[in-house]
Amino acid sequence: MYSAKKCIDLSNSNIQQMIKRFIGKSANISEHDYIVVGSGSAGSVIANRLATFNSPDKSSNQVLLLEAGPSDDTWKIKMPAALMYCLKDKKYSWCYETTPQPRANNRVFFWPRGKVMGGSSSLNAMVYVRGHPYDYDRWEQEGAKGWSYADCLPYFKKAQTHQLGGDDYRGDSGPLYVSRGKWNNPLYHAFVDAGLQAGYQHTEDCNGFKQEGFGHFDMTIKNGVRCNASMAYIHPILSKYKNLKISTNSMATKVIVEGSKAVGVEYKQNDATKYARARKEVILCGGSINSPQLLLLSGIGNADELRNFVRSTSETAYHPCGTAKMGSENDKSAVVDSKCRVLGIDKLRVVDASIMPSILSGNLNAPVIMMAEKAADMILGVPPLPKLHVPVWKPSDPTKQR
Ligand SMILES: Cc1cc2nc3c(=O)[nH]c(=O)nc-3n(C[C@H](O)[C@H](O)[C@H](O)COP(=O)(O)OP(=O)(O)OC[C@H]3O[C@@H](n4cnc5c(N)ncnc54)[C@H](O)[C@@H]3O)c2cc1C
Repeated sequence: MYSAKKCIDLSNSNIQQMIKRFIGKSANISEHDYIVVGSGSAGSVIANRLATFNSPDKSSNQVLLLEAGPSDDTWKIKMPAALMYCLKDKKYSWCYETTPQPRANNRVFFWPRGKVMGGSSSLNAMVYVRGHPYDYDRWEQEGAKGWSYADCLPYFKKAQTHQLGGDDYRGDSGPLYVSRGKWNNPLYHAFVDAGLQAGYQHTEDCNGFKQEGFGHFDMTIKNGVRCNASMAYIHPILSKYKNLKISTNSMATKVIVEGSKAVGVEYKQNDATKYARARKEVILCGGSINSPQLLLLSGIGNADELRNFVRSTSETAYHPCGTAKMGSENDKSAVVDSKCRVLGIDKLRVVDASIMPSILSGNLNAPVIMMAEKAADMILGVPPLPKLHVPVWKPSDPTKQR
């Protein structure tokens, strides 16, 4: 389990003075209210919501968004059909590989992850799937208090503008644009018809009343262009909100902790080591591989325990999650509590796919964006959106082939 005991103890020292003493006047130190590490699916949402928040006293939050990769301003990301271009391009992808997997003939698996504004939502296949409503009810049973489907649905809706308009399940005024794919190709119809003829059910909307069945997929595509998290949440606010500072090619290398409180981040930009101090909080949104790694680099947590944890909870392919999972305070395998706060460390949260209590029965981009919407309210201290109770289809016999 991650614990404050293993932190670098910088208590009784002012971090700015300490840095200046050790590295002289050239120290490159900036100060902000919030530091968000990683501008992927989660980080883009968090940075937007913190920077655009209208506080009662009319002051705005100064937000620093650090991104290890470059800008996402390239046709390779914008053009949906170009999706294979970036996966193995080290400019935009971390190009991770697993260790040899003994249960798969010691094969090494390729693990692409976005290293660019928008993170993995800039590389992904753009399928919009929320998972099954009961997955979220299971999260709550697993110790993630306040993360049932009724709690999460308002945030799915808040994030979304669906091409077909809003209803009990869909949103109609959020930043993330979701469209129905075009059905020009007769093979699409043939495929769905074949499913129905084989005895499977039809679903009108797999993110609505009934997940199960054959039907249309929703896509994060707007007018033929990929709607990654940064196109949805960052680009539209950049010119208006000067209180949001984005630093690309900036790799966080350590969370700086004083006593048991996170006070800033050390990062590398173009070979220069820089320091950013957070007056309010540090929020890690580096994704399932990098957020736990950054915790370890910061002396938070135990490498052996993390390794076991990754082995037993993360998934291969494109959807690793649960590597710094959310749970109740007496759950020894939990890294963050249900408000996404790192257990044992003040002013430090993790918000990304790593905190999922368990894998969902769907792809992860939409759920991560929903989680970040919900976490942003927690960080800002505003009450959660009211629960939404809607009907959900239940098979009469879940164990039977349908
Ligand atoms: C090839 C592929 C296809 C996929 N297809 C789909 C799909 O069709 N539908 C779907 O729903 N999901 C899909 N996914 C999964 C989904 O996109 C991810 O689960 C989701 O984007 C993860 O969001 P995140 O915020 O946890 O991390 P990410 O979006 O990966 O964001 C992490 C960000 O943090 C940055 N970062 C990391 N470490 C640091 C550091 N130390 N300092 C600064 N910055 C840092 C990274 O560069 C990155 O930009 C796919 C994923 C991949 C890779």
